[in-house]
Amino acid sequence: MAVQTVAGNTSSSAPAVDLGPAAALSCRECGERFELGPLFACASCFGPLEVAYDLPTGSPEELRKRIEAGPDNIWRYAPLLPVPADVAEKPNINPGFTKLVKADNLARELGVTGGLYVKDDSGNPTHSFKDRVVAIAVEAARAFGFTTLSCSSTGNLAGAVGAAAARAGLRSCVFIPHDLEQGKVVMAAVYGGELVGIEGNYDDVNRFCSELIGDPLGEGWGFVNVNLRPYYGEGSKTLAYEICEQLGWRLPDQIVIPIASGSQLTKIDKGFQELIKLGLVEDRPYKIFGAQAEGCSPVSAAFKAGHDVVRPQKPNTIAKSLAIGNPADGPYVLDIARRTGGAVEDVTDEQVVDAIKLLARTEGIFGETAGGVTLGVTKKLIEAGVIDPALTTVVLNTGDGLKTLDAVSATSQATATIKPSLDAFRAAGLVAG
Ligand SMILES: *Cc1c(COP(=O)(O)O)cnc(C)c1O
Repeated sequence: MAVQTVAGNTSSSAPAVDLGPAAALSCRECGERFELGPLFACASCFGPLEVAYDLPTGSPEELRKRIEAGPDNIWRYAPLLPVPADVAEKPNINPGFTKLVKADNLARELGVTGGLYVKDDSGNPTHSFKDRVVAIAVEAARAFGFTTLSCSSTGNLAGAVGAAAARAGLRSCVFIPHDLEQGKVVMAAVYGGELVGIEGNYDDVNRFCSELIGDPLGEGWGFVNVNLRPYYGEGSKTLAYEICEQLGWRLPDQIVIPIASGSQLTKIDKGFQELIKLGLVEDRPYKIFGAQAEGCSPVSAAFKAGHDVVRPQKPNTIAKSLAIGNPADGPYVLDIARRTGGAVEDVTDEQVVDAIKLLARTEGIFGETAGGVTLGVTKKLIEAGVIDPALTTVVLNTGDGLKTLDAVSATSQATATIKPSLDAFRAAGLVAG
């Protein structure tokens, strides 16, 4: 297939590993290019590296047909991802192509007339969006010959790595803050890999992992969100691709995305930009909104203050999957929100719980706390007149409520407990009227 270089110069030597259309790594700050490898920071300026591609040329119709004929998972977009062409035949957890639910009941409740959709990523193999990023990282780990798959995690990533490593036949050893929700601990441990609780918060866990990578102890280890981070991040682009395809190859007008490290939000923007460049969608303006919990809102605080830098916070929120106090992609999120005319906002834990229950009550979707953050922020921004109710809006639900039962267990209990008799039932006052 003929190829076209989309970012910077291509080095004359062919990449040493086969990751499909991935041509090189390039620095997001200075643009310097590096051969594909387990690198994550620019050797010149320490900026973050990202994957640069030789994207397919040819007609958009041809590419659209090829995608639509592909498997019902993220591998339908293999020509746009850093994975070998035969990726669909390898043992992988094959996430993606989750439902885009037209949320008409919720729209009525929120006064949205332009079409409201929930992209429900609880439908992934380990019930969070993290399966997308890990599935890509597994292919990079294979390509670079790593035998142990690892990560620092706020919970969901640990489970996704455990499952993906089990399926791919790799060893796994993952690191989490010691005080995570029980649902997340069990879901990380059940796949049979090593699970290590660190006495500290996520930022402590992350620092520990960075030390481990630089030490002989971490030799042969692929940390999906550290030394494999450029590849891992690309998995989030598939959310952008799927949403557009499911809308009939059209960009949404507005999208609301939760922020932990900010990687997902930046890559969804990258995905939209690629679809425009490839002619797969019409080039129309879209707005990207970021969502945080008030108890961990460093990006939201910077956005509101008009700052370009993000001041780290010590997280204290029930939305533990988003509790990253020092988000690596924070400044890039600010750029994207400002460039697209979007915003970054936060909600209280109480609003998170209300939003979890609102989504469940109106659409039959039980989201985790991150989903509550995202819908809570959506509601707040509609009420503030920032999100336009007359435009098409997509809200992400990135995880399953079964993982964060504690958030709603106090207020979601049996309506009544009665003896097994009709008299008792009648006395309970539940007969419709
Ligand atoms: C990790 C995670 C996110 C966002 O992650 P980023 O680090 O911003 O890419 C969102 N929702 C859930 C449920 C997550 O686990």
